[in-house]
Amino acid sequence: MAYAISEECIMCGACAAECPVSAISEGDTQYTIDADTCIECGACAGVCPVGAPAQA
Ligand code: SF4
Ligand code: SF4
Repeated sequence: MAYAISEECIMCGACAAECPVSAISEGDTQYTIDADTCIECGACAGVCPVGAPAQA
C-alpha cells in the first residue's frame, strides 16, 4: 500500500524534499501523497518529526 499523510502534519516540508519520485505536494492544510506515484520507500516516514506519513 502507498503511504498517506495524516492530519498530524505540521507542513515542515521535510518529506517532500526526501521523496525520490516527487509524490508529495503541499496542500492547503497539510502535505499530501499521490498514491499512484508513491513507490513505498518509507523515506517520508523516516524524516517526519511528527510521524504523519504511514502506510494506509
Ligand atoms: Fe515518496 Fe517514499 Fe514517501 Fe512514497 S514512501 S511518498 S515514494 S518518500
Ligand atoms: Fe508534514 Fe511530516 Fe511531511 Fe513535515 S515531514 S510536511 S510534518 S508529513
